Formats: sequence, structure tokens, C-alpha cells
Amino acid sequence: MELWVTEYQTPALGFSLKMSKTLRVEQTEFQHLAVVETDQFGRMLLLDGMVMTTDADEFVYHEMITQVALNSHPNPQKVLIIGGGDGGALREAVRHTLVKEATLVEIDGKVIEASKAFFPDLACAFDDPKAEVVVDDGTAYVAKRKGVFDVIMVDSTEPVGPAVELFSAPFYQQCFEALKDDGMLVVQSESPFLNADVIKMAYEGIMDSFPVTKLYLASIPTYPSGLWSFTVGSKKYDPAQPLHENPNELKYYNPDVHRAAFQLPGFVKKLLAAR
Ligand code: SAM
Repeated sequence: MELWVTEYQTPALGFSLKMSKTLRVEQTEFQHLAVVETDQFGRMLLLDGMVMTTDADEFVYHEMITQVALNSHPNPQKVLIIGGGDGGALREAVRHTLVKEATLVEIDGKVIEASKAFFPDLACAFDDPKAEVVVDDGTAYVAKRKGVFDVIMVDSTEPVGPAVELFSAPFYQQCFEALKDDGMLVVQSESPFLNADVIKMAYEGIMDSFPVTKLYLASIPTYPSGLWSFTVGSKKYDPAQPLHENPNELKYYNPDVHRAAFQLPGFVKKLLAAR
């Protein structure tokens, strides 16, 4: 008998992968967590039935949520990651040569535990000397900080449960205040094909606080529709211009991809223009 796991992305659209094993299933205080072994993409983490990451394509998301801001800010020494309990964004942040401190604030310690148990390539930076790991609600953490970070990255789940506030205008204003005078915020903002409402909410919410707001895209096969967006709010620098030659070998990000990611198709431009 074949076993398949399906993420129902809309009531009329599902993404299915053939799987061989269930490695963990638990109800945490915050969400339903599952780790399964798929034939096509290796291990996969799901929260509340939604794909968070897989062995095979995690590099795209984690490089693109981190490296764009880290390479367009001239001196990104102090970084905050909200969410991101799988550790992939933290791995990317600490390997950037200019980053001196990266703090990860994840609400659900069980996600960190599962990543340590099943995703060694993602969980490799939790003990890095540059890393600090805090288990707390990111909104509460940000509200207490003023003018301290160069870059904030919001590596959140979809806007359901504890992540709802992470897509709100008041939260973006608190991020603005937690950043230094030339700081940058980047958030994952979902699929332009399936979540136009979320993109508008993030883009317009960020625009209310930040003088520069830009959206960029990346291709992520296991995320709904495969085309994914990220939105940047910047106090000063242009997030579309790479400034550093990152000496690390990356699998998706490079300066050409950086610039190209900000070139948007017509329907996405139209979505951002309509307010
Ligand atoms: N790349 C993923 C995606 O878009 O599918 C997101 C990965 S990461 C696992 C998302 C994390 O955000 C989850 O572990 C979740 O627990 C965390 N999270 C949700 N709301 C949060 C909050 N208010 N504060 C901190 N972390 C939060």
C-alpha cells in the first residue's frame, strides 16, 4: 500500500508527496507538528498540516529570506530572527561574515527539538558562538527592544494561530522601532497566486512604517504554487542592490539572483499598486 501526505493549500488544491515513514507526530502547546520521510524531497516538517521545509528545497527559502537583506545592508552585525525554529535562517545568518550576533526567537520549543532530532543540516547553528536562541513570542520580544538591530527577519508560519500578529501593521511598527536608524526588516509574505490578501496586508502594513518597501520572489517547489514572496521594509538602503561579495558558496542566492528577484511580473506589480 502506498502512503501519501497532502497539504490542502486551498479547498480545491492539494500538494501530495509519496512518503515512506512518519518520524514524529505531536500536538504541541501551539500547533500540530509532524515530520515525515518523503520519496521525492527527503524529510519534511509540517505544522498544522502545512509544509514548513524539506531537505531538498530548504536552501532556496533560507538563503532568500536571509541573504538579500544581509547583502544589501552595508554592515548587518546584529540580526534578529522571529520564528524560524527549524534553524535554517539562523544557519544562513551566522555564516554571513559581517554578522556578529544572531538572535532567534521561536515561540514553540518543540519545533527546535524536532529540527535537532531530524534535520541536522538545518539545526547546525543553534550552538554557534554567534547565536542566541530564545523560546518566546516574537511580538513580545520585539516590543521590548528599541534601536538595537541592523536586520530583523520574520520567518513565520502562515497568518494563523500565534503568527497572526506577525502580519499586522502594529507589529511592523514595533520592528521599525527595534531597528537601528538604517535597519531593514524582511518578512516571508506567501504566494502571489494563492495569498494575494496576505501579500497586500504585509506590503501595506510595512509601507505604513518604512520609507522603502519592496517585494521580491523566489521559486520554492514545495510551497503553495511554487512562487513565493518576501517583503522588505528599509529605513535607508535599497534592498534590491547587493553590496557584498559573500565568499560562502550558496546554492540559490548570488548577486544576479538578488537583483533579478525584484523584477516582478505584471500581475504582482498590479497587486502592489492597488491600495
Ligand atoms: N519557512 C516556513 C514557511 O513559511 O512555511 C516557516 C518556518 S518556521 C518553522 C515558522 C515558525 O514560526 C514556527 O516554528 C512557529 O512556531 C513560529 N512562530 C509562529 N508564530 C510565532 C510568534 N508569534 N513568535 C515566534 N515564533 C512564531
